[in-house]
Amino acid sequence: MKLGIVGLPNVGKSTLFNAITKAGAECANYPFCTIDPNIGVVNVPDERLDKLAEMYKPKKVTPATIEFVDIAGLVKGASKGEGLGNKFLSHIREVDAIVHVVRCFEDPNIVHVDGSIGPVRDIETINLELIFADLEVLERRMDKVKKQAKSGEKKYQEELEFLESIKQHLESNQPVRTMKIDEEWEKYAEQLFLLTAKPMLYCANISEDDIKNPDANPYVRELKAYAAKEKAEVITICARIEEEIAQLDDSEKKAFLSELGIGESGLDRLIKASYKLLGLISFLTAGETEVRAWTIKKGTKAPQAAGKIHSDFERGFIRAEVVAYEDLIKAGSYTAAKEMGLVRSEGKDYVMQDGDVTLFRFNV
Ligand code: GDP
Repeated sequence: MKLGIVGLPNVGKSTLFNAITKAGAECANYPFCTIDPNIGVVNVPDERLDKLAEMYKPKKVTPATIEFVDIAGLVKGASKGEGLGNKFLSHIREVDAIVHVVRCFEDPNIVHVDGSIGPVRDIETINLELIFADLEVLERRMDKVKKQAKSGEKKYQEELEFLESIKQHLESNQPVRTMKIDEEWEKYAEQLFLLTAKPMLYCANISEDDIKNPDANPYVRELKAYAAKEKAEVITICARIEEEIAQLDDSEKKAFLSELGIGESGLDRLIKASYKLLGLISFLTAGETEVRAWTIKKGTKAPQAAGKIHSDFERGFIRAEVVAYEDLIKAGSYTAAKEMGLVRSEGKDYVMQDGDVTLFRFNV
Protein backbone atom coordinates (compact mmCIF):
# COMPACT_ATOMS: atom_id res chain seq x y z
CA MET A 1 0.00 0.00 0.00
CA LYS A 2 1.44 3.33 -0.93
CA LEU A 3 0.54 6.98 -1.06
CA GLY A 4 1.43 9.41 -3.78
CA ILE A 5 2.49 12.95 -2.94
CA VAL A 6 1.07 15.38 -5.48
CA GLY A 7 0.71 19.15 -5.78
CA LEU A 8 1.67 22.06 -8.00
CA PRO A 9 5.35 22.99 -8.44
CA ASN A 10 6.98 24.95 -5.59
CA VAL A 11 4.46 24.01 -2.92
CA GLY A 12 6.98 22.00 -0.89
CA LYS A 13 6.55 18.44 -2.14
CA SER A 14 10.26 17.70 -2.41
CA THR A 15 10.90 19.27 0.97
CA LEU A 16 8.24 17.05 2.50
CA PHE A 17 9.53 14.02 0.64
CA ASN A 18 13.05 14.74 1.89
CA ALA A 19 11.70 14.83 5.42
CA ILE A 20 10.11 11.45 4.78
CA THR A 21 13.28 9.85 3.45
CA LYS A 22 15.40 11.37 6.22
CA ALA A 23 12.99 10.09 8.86
CA GLY A 24 12.96 6.88 6.84
CA ALA A 25 12.73 3.36 8.14
CA GLU A 26 15.86 1.19 8.01
CA CYS A 27 16.46 0.96 4.27
CA ALA A 28 18.08 -2.45 4.42
CA ASN A 29 14.63 -3.93 4.97
CA TYR A 30 13.29 -2.27 1.84
CA PRO A 31 15.69 -2.95 -1.01
CA PHE A 32 13.44 -1.16 -3.49
CA CYS A 33 13.74 2.19 -1.71
CA THR A 34 17.45 2.36 -2.43
CA ILE A 35 16.71 1.50 -6.04
CA ASP A 36 13.87 3.93 -6.56
CA PRO A 37 14.71 7.41 -5.27
CA ASN A 38 11.06 8.41 -5.54
CA ILE A 39 9.94 5.96 -2.87
CA GLY A 40 10.28 6.71 0.84
CA VAL A 41 9.43 4.22 3.57
CA VAL A 42 8.61 5.48 7.06
CA ASN A 43 7.71 3.92 10.36
CA VAL A 44 4.18 4.51 11.54
CA PRO A 45 4.48 6.20 14.95
CA ASP A 46 2.80 4.02 17.59
CA GLU A 47 3.15 4.84 21.28
CA ARG A 48 1.71 1.44 22.12
CA LEU A 49 4.91 -0.24 20.94
CA ASP A 50 6.97 1.80 23.42
CA LYS A 51 4.67 0.81 26.27
CA LEU A 52 4.78 -2.85 25.26
CA ALA A 53 8.56 -2.65 24.99
CA GLU A 54 8.69 -1.44 28.61
CA MET A 55 6.61 -4.44 29.60
CA TYR A 56 8.40 -7.14 27.58
CA LYS A 57 11.92 -5.72 27.26
CA PRO A 58 12.27 -7.34 23.84
CA LYS A 59 15.45 -7.58 21.75
CA LYS A 60 13.74 -5.81 18.92
CA VAL A 61 10.84 -3.42 18.31
CA THR A 62 9.39 -3.38 14.81
CA PRO A 63 6.85 -0.73 13.88
CA ALA A 64 4.51 -0.83 10.92
CA THR A 65 5.65 1.08 7.83
CA ILE A 66 4.08 2.84 4.88
CA GLU A 67 5.43 4.01 1.57
CA PHE A 68 5.22 7.41 0.01
CA VAL A 69 5.91 8.07 -3.65
CA ASP A 70 7.07 11.48 -4.81
CA ILE A 71 5.02 12.29 -7.88
CA ALA A 72 6.45 15.51 -9.25
CA GLY A 73 5.44 17.14 -12.47
CA LEU A 74 1.76 17.88 -12.25
CA VAL A 75 0.99 21.18 -13.91
CA LYS A 76 -2.00 22.73 -15.55
CA GLY A 77 -2.61 20.82 -18.78
CA ALA A 78 -1.10 17.54 -17.58
CA SER A 79 -4.10 15.57 -18.80
CA LYS A 80 -3.44 17.06 -22.24
CA GLY A 81 0.16 15.89 -22.05
CA GLU A 82 1.76 19.11 -20.75
CA GLY A 83 4.80 18.72 -18.50
CA LEU A 84 5.29 15.09 -17.68
CA GLY A 85 1.60 14.82 -18.39
CA ASN A 86 0.45 11.30 -18.91
CA LYS A 87 3.51 9.76 -17.34
CA PHE A 88 2.67 11.62 -14.20
CA LEU A 89 -0.92 10.45 -14.27
CA SER A 90 0.12 6.84 -14.71
CA HIS A 91 2.20 7.14 -11.53
CA ILE A 92 -0.88 8.27 -9.66
CA ARG A 93 -2.80 5.32 -11.03
CA GLU A 94 -0.42 3.01 -9.16
CA VAL A 95 -0.90 4.46 -5.68
CA ASP A 96 -3.66 3.59 -3.23
CA ALA A 97 -4.25 7.07 -1.84
CA ILE A 98 -3.14 10.62 -2.44
CA VAL A 99 -1.52 13.26 -0.24
CA HIS A 100 -2.21 16.57 -1.92
CA VAL A 101 0.30 19.21 -0.80
CA VAL A 102 -1.05 22.75 -0.86
CA ARG A 103 1.03 25.86 -0.40
CA CYS A 104 -0.18 28.03 2.46
CA PHE A 105 3.08 29.86 3.19
CA GLU A 106 4.05 33.28 1.91
CA ASP A 107 7.60 33.71 0.71
CA PRO A 108 8.44 36.41 -1.82
CA ASN A 109 11.60 34.51 -2.77
CA ILE A 110 9.72 31.44 -3.90
CA VAL A 111 7.60 32.02 -6.94
CA HIS A 112 4.16 30.57 -7.20
CA VAL A 113 3.29 29.18 -10.64
CA ASP A 114 0.15 31.31 -10.66
CA GLY A 115 1.72 34.40 -9.15
CA SER A 116 -0.01 34.39 -5.76
CA ILE A 117 -0.95 32.09 -2.91
CA GLY A 118 -4.39 30.58 -3.45
CA PRO A 119 -4.97 27.17 -1.89
CA VAL A 120 -8.44 26.55 -3.29
CA ARG A 121 -7.45 27.69 -6.78
CA ASP A 122 -4.40 25.39 -6.59
CA ILE A 123 -6.44 22.43 -5.43
CA GLU A 124 -8.95 22.96 -8.17
CA THR A 125 -6.18 23.12 -10.78
CA ILE A 126 -4.87 19.74 -9.74
CA ASN A 127 -8.24 18.16 -9.14
CA LEU A 128 -9.41 19.32 -12.55
CA GLU A 129 -6.49 17.58 -14.25
CA LEU A 130 -7.41 14.38 -12.45
CA ILE A 131 -11.04 14.82 -13.45
CA PHE A 132 -10.03 15.32 -17.11
CA ALA A 133 -7.94 12.17 -16.99
CA ASP A 134 -10.89 10.22 -15.58
CA LEU A 135 -13.24 11.61 -18.19
CA GLU A 136 -10.92 10.36 -20.89
CA VAL A 137 -10.93 6.87 -19.41
CA LEU A 138 -14.72 6.97 -19.17
CA GLU A 139 -15.23 8.14 -22.70
CA ARG A 140 -13.04 5.39 -24.06
CA ARG A 141 -14.96 2.84 -22.05
CA MET A 142 -18.30 4.27 -23.10
CA ASP A 143 -17.38 4.06 -26.78
CA LYS A 144 -16.66 0.39 -26.35
CA VAL A 145 -19.84 -0.32 -24.41
CA LYS A 146 -21.94 1.63 -26.89
CA LYS A 147 -20.85 -0.79 -29.60
CA GLN A 148 -21.69 -3.74 -27.38
CA ALA A 149 -25.05 -2.19 -26.49
CA LYS A 150 -26.09 -2.40 -30.12
CA SER A 151 -26.68 -6.09 -29.53
CA GLY A 152 -29.68 -4.99 -27.46
CA GLU A 153 -28.49 -6.80 -24.38
CA LYS A 154 -29.80 -5.13 -21.25
CA LYS A 155 -26.61 -5.46 -19.25
CA TYR A 156 -24.72 -3.21 -21.66
CA GLN A 157 -27.46 -0.62 -21.49
CA GLU A 158 -27.20 -0.64 -17.68
CA GLU A 159 -23.45 -0.40 -17.84
CA LEU A 160 -23.73 2.57 -20.12
CA GLU A 161 -26.15 4.28 -17.76
CA PHE A 162 -23.82 3.77 -14.84
CA LEU A 163 -20.87 5.15 -16.79
CA GLU A 164 -23.01 8.11 -17.78
CA SER A 165 -23.82 8.81 -14.12
CA ILE A 166 -20.10 8.92 -13.26
CA LYS A 167 -19.47 11.18 -16.21
CA GLN A 168 -22.11 13.63 -15.05
CA HIS A 169 -20.65 13.63 -11.55
CA LEU A 170 -17.20 14.43 -12.95
CA GLU A 171 -18.60 17.06 -15.25
CA SER A 172 -20.02 18.86 -12.25
CA ASN A 173 -16.40 19.11 -11.02
CA GLN A 174 -16.81 16.44 -8.38
CA PRO A 175 -14.28 13.68 -7.75
CA VAL A 176 -15.62 10.12 -7.95
CA ARG A 177 -14.78 9.54 -4.28
CA THR A 178 -17.65 11.85 -3.30
CA MET A 179 -20.13 9.93 -5.45
CA LYS A 180 -22.63 7.60 -3.86
CA ILE A 181 -22.24 4.29 -5.67
CA ASP A 182 -24.75 1.45 -5.33
CA GLU A 183 -23.29 -1.66 -3.80
CA GLU A 184 -23.93 -3.73 -6.94
CA TRP A 185 -21.73 -1.35 -8.94
CA GLU A 186 -18.89 -0.98 -6.42
CA LYS A 187 -16.72 -3.74 -7.86
CA TYR A 188 -17.27 -2.50 -11.38
CA ALA A 189 -16.38 1.06 -10.42
CA GLU A 190 -13.20 -0.15 -8.72
CA GLN A 191 -11.89 -1.82 -11.85
CA LEU A 192 -12.15 1.43 -13.77
CA PHE A 193 -9.13 2.57 -11.71
CA LEU A 194 -10.23 6.17 -11.72
CA LEU A 195 -7.82 8.68 -10.21
CA THR A 196 -10.46 10.74 -8.45
CA ALA A 197 -11.84 7.63 -6.78
CA LYS A 198 -8.72 7.33 -4.65
CA PRO A 199 -8.90 8.56 -1.07
CA MET A 200 -7.20 11.94 -0.68
CA LEU A 201 -6.06 14.13 2.16
CA TYR A 202 -4.78 17.66 1.99
CA CYS A 203 -1.47 18.63 3.48
CA ALA A 204 -1.27 22.37 4.11
CA ASN A 205 2.33 23.52 3.98
CA ILE A 206 2.50 26.45 6.37
CA SER A 207 5.29 28.80 7.33
CA GLU A 208 7.53 28.46 10.36
CA ASP A 209 5.64 31.29 12.09
CA ASP A 210 2.28 29.55 11.92
CA ILE A 211 3.23 26.26 13.51
CA LYS A 212 1.85 27.07 16.93
CA ASN A 213 -1.47 28.27 15.64
CA PRO A 214 -2.09 27.10 12.07
CA ASP A 215 -5.71 28.26 12.08
CA ALA A 216 -4.58 31.86 12.41
CA ASN A 217 -3.43 31.51 8.80
CA PRO A 218 -6.35 32.54 6.54
CA TYR A 219 -5.14 30.21 3.75
CA VAL A 220 -5.44 27.28 6.12
CA ARG A 221 -8.96 28.31 7.05
CA GLU A 222 -9.87 28.60 3.38
CA LEU A 223 -8.43 25.17 2.68
CA LYS A 224 -10.19 23.58 5.64
CA ALA A 225 -13.55 24.99 4.59
CA TYR A 226 -13.03 23.54 1.12
CA ALA A 227 -11.91 20.15 2.39
CA ALA A 228 -14.84 19.93 4.81
CA LYS A 229 -17.24 19.98 1.86
CA GLU A 230 -15.75 16.76 0.53
CA LYS A 231 -15.16 15.42 4.05
CA ALA A 232 -11.42 15.28 3.43
CA GLU A 233 -8.90 15.62 6.20
CA VAL A 234 -6.39 18.50 6.37
CA ILE A 235 -3.00 18.08 8.03
CA THR A 236 -1.03 21.26 8.64
CA ILE A 237 2.74 20.96 8.56
CA CYS A 238 5.77 23.12 7.94
CA ALA A 239 7.74 21.03 5.48
CA ARG A 240 10.94 22.97 6.04
CA ILE A 241 10.88 22.39 9.81
CA GLU A 242 9.92 18.75 9.29
CA GLU A 243 13.04 18.29 7.21
CA GLU A 244 15.10 19.51 10.18
CA ILE A 245 13.18 17.43 12.72
CA ALA A 246 13.61 14.31 10.62
CA GLN A 247 17.37 14.46 11.13
CA LEU A 248 17.19 14.48 14.92
CA ASP A 249 17.32 11.49 17.23
CA ASP A 250 14.40 10.77 19.55
CA SER A 251 15.50 12.87 22.53
CA GLU A 252 16.60 15.82 20.41
CA LYS A 253 13.30 15.62 18.59
CA LYS A 254 11.34 15.78 21.85
CA ALA A 255 13.32 18.79 23.01
CA PHE A 256 12.91 20.58 19.71
CA LEU A 257 9.19 19.95 19.58
CA SER A 258 8.66 21.28 23.08
CA GLU A 259 10.73 24.33 22.15
CA LEU A 260 8.35 24.86 19.22
CA GLY A 261 5.45 24.41 21.61
CA ILE A 262 3.95 21.39 19.86
CA GLY A 263 3.45 17.87 21.10
CA GLU A 264 3.77 15.86 17.93
CA SER A 265 5.63 16.55 14.70
CA GLY A 266 3.60 17.37 11.62
CA LEU A 267 5.14 14.46 9.78
CA ASP A 268 4.04 12.03 12.50
CA ARG A 269 0.50 13.39 12.27
CA LEU A 270 0.64 13.07 8.49
CA ILE A 271 1.86 9.47 8.63
CA LYS A 272 -0.86 8.46 11.08
CA ALA A 273 -3.54 10.14 8.99
CA SER A 274 -2.17 8.48 5.84
CA TYR A 275 -2.31 5.06 7.45
CA LYS A 276 -5.94 5.66 8.35
CA LEU A 277 -6.69 7.03 4.89
CA LEU A 278 -5.50 3.74 3.41
CA GLY A 279 -7.98 1.90 5.63
CA LEU A 280 -5.18 0.23 7.58
CA ILE A 281 -4.98 -0.82 11.22
CA SER A 282 -2.32 -2.60 13.27
CA PHE A 283 -2.52 -5.69 15.37
CA LEU A 284 0.36 -6.27 17.76
CA THR A 285 2.49 -9.18 18.80
CA ALA A 286 4.58 -9.04 21.94
CA GLY A 287 7.24 -11.32 23.38
CA GLU A 288 10.77 -11.31 24.70
CA THR A 289 12.23 -11.53 21.22
CA GLU A 290 10.17 -8.91 19.50
CA VAL A 291 7.39 -6.40 19.96
CA ARG A 292 5.84 -5.70 16.62
CA ALA A 293 3.01 -3.97 14.80
CA TRP A 294 1.49 -5.76 11.79
CA THR A 295 -0.45 -3.97 9.13
CA ILE A 296 -3.83 -5.25 8.03
CA LYS A 297 -6.82 -3.81 6.22
CA LYS A 298 -9.68 -2.87 8.48
CA GLY A 299 -12.12 -5.80 8.48
CA THR A 300 -9.45 -8.51 8.16
CA LYS A 301 -10.32 -11.77 9.92
CA ALA A 302 -8.01 -13.62 12.30
CA PRO A 303 -6.69 -16.34 9.92
CA GLN A 304 -5.73 -13.80 7.24
CA ALA A 305 -4.10 -11.62 9.89
CA ALA A 306 -2.13 -14.69 11.01
CA GLY A 307 -1.11 -15.16 7.39
CA LYS A 308 0.66 -11.80 7.52
CA ILE A 309 3.13 -13.35 9.95
CA HIS A 310 3.52 -16.64 8.13
CA SER A 311 1.47 -18.50 5.55
CA ASP A 312 1.63 -21.61 7.78
CA PHE A 313 -0.17 -19.63 10.48
CA GLU A 314 -3.07 -19.05 8.14
CA ARG A 315 -3.17 -22.57 6.73
CA GLY A 316 -3.04 -24.25 10.13
CA PHE A 317 -5.02 -21.62 12.00
CA ILE A 318 -6.74 -22.94 15.12
CA ARG A 319 -7.53 -19.82 17.12
CA ALA A 320 -6.21 -16.47 18.23
CA GLU A 321 -5.61 -15.45 21.82
CA VAL A 322 -6.43 -11.79 21.89
CA VAL A 323 -6.19 -9.07 24.50
CA ALA A 324 -6.99 -5.46 23.68
CA TYR A 325 -3.92 -3.28 24.16
CA GLU A 326 -5.69 -1.06 26.72
CA ASP A 327 -6.71 -4.11 28.76
CA LEU A 328 -3.19 -5.49 28.73
CA ILE A 329 -1.77 -2.21 29.98
CA LYS A 330 -4.45 -1.96 32.66
CA ALA A 331 -3.68 -5.49 33.84
CA GLY A 332 0.05 -4.80 33.89
CA SER A 333 1.14 -8.11 32.40
CA TYR A 334 -0.10 -10.86 30.10
CA THR A 335 -0.40 -13.30 33.00
CA ALA A 336 -2.44 -10.80 35.00
CA ALA A 337 -4.64 -10.10 31.99
CA LYS A 338 -5.26 -13.83 31.63
CA GLU A 339 -6.18 -14.19 35.31
CA MET A 340 -8.59 -11.30 34.97
CA GLY A 341 -10.25 -13.01 32.03
CA LEU A 342 -9.22 -10.27 29.60
CA VAL A 343 -7.54 -12.62 27.15
CA ARG A 344 -10.14 -13.90 24.72
CA SER A 345 -10.01 -16.97 22.55
CA GLU A 346 -11.20 -16.04 19.06
CA GLY A 347 -12.02 -18.26 16.10
CA LYS A 348 -11.70 -18.00 12.34
CA ASP A 349 -14.53 -15.51 11.93
CA TYR A 350 -13.13 -12.98 14.36
CA VAL A 351 -12.61 -9.55 12.81
CA MET A 352 -9.32 -8.14 14.06
CA GLN A 353 -9.37 -4.80 15.87
CA ASP A 354 -6.74 -2.10 15.93
CA GLY A 355 -4.41 -2.71 18.88
CA ASP A 356 -5.29 -6.37 19.44
CA VAL A 357 -2.30 -7.97 21.14
CA THR A 358 -2.43 -11.39 19.60
CA LEU A 359 -0.99 -14.86 19.93
CA PHE A 360 -1.97 -17.28 17.17
CA ARG A 361 -2.42 -21.00 17.78
CA PHE A 362 -1.95 -23.15 14.73
CA ASN A 363 -1.23 -26.68 13.48
CA VAL A 364 1.88 -27.29 11.48
P1 GDP B 1 8.07 21.28 -4.97
O1 GDP B 1 8.30 21.88 -6.30
O2 GDP B 1 6.61 21.21 -4.65
O3 GDP B 1 8.75 19.98 -4.77
O4 GDP B 1 8.63 22.32 -3.90
P2 GDP B 1 9.99 22.31 -3.07
O5 GDP B 1 9.92 21.33 -1.97
O6 GDP B 1 11.14 22.22 -4.00
O7 GDP B 1 9.91 23.74 -2.43
C1 GDP B 1 9.95 24.92 -3.19
C2 GDP B 1 10.62 25.98 -2.38
O8 GDP B 1 9.81 26.30 -1.24
C3 GDP B 1 11.98 25.54 -1.84
O9 GDP B 1 12.84 26.65 -1.94
C4 GDP B 1 11.70 25.22 -0.39
O10 GDP B 1 12.82 25.45 0.43
C5 GDP B 1 10.57 26.18 -0.05
N1 GDP B 1 9.72 25.67 1.02
C6 GDP B 1 9.20 24.42 1.13
N2 GDP B 1 8.51 24.30 2.28
C7 GDP B 1 8.59 25.50 2.91
C8 GDP B 1 8.09 26.00 4.15
O11 GDP B 1 7.42 25.29 4.89
N3 GDP B 1 8.37 27.30 4.43
C9 GDP B 1 9.10 28.10 3.60
N4 GDP B 1 9.35 29.35 3.92
N5 GDP B 1 9.62 27.64 2.44
C10 GDP B 1 9.37 26.36 2.10
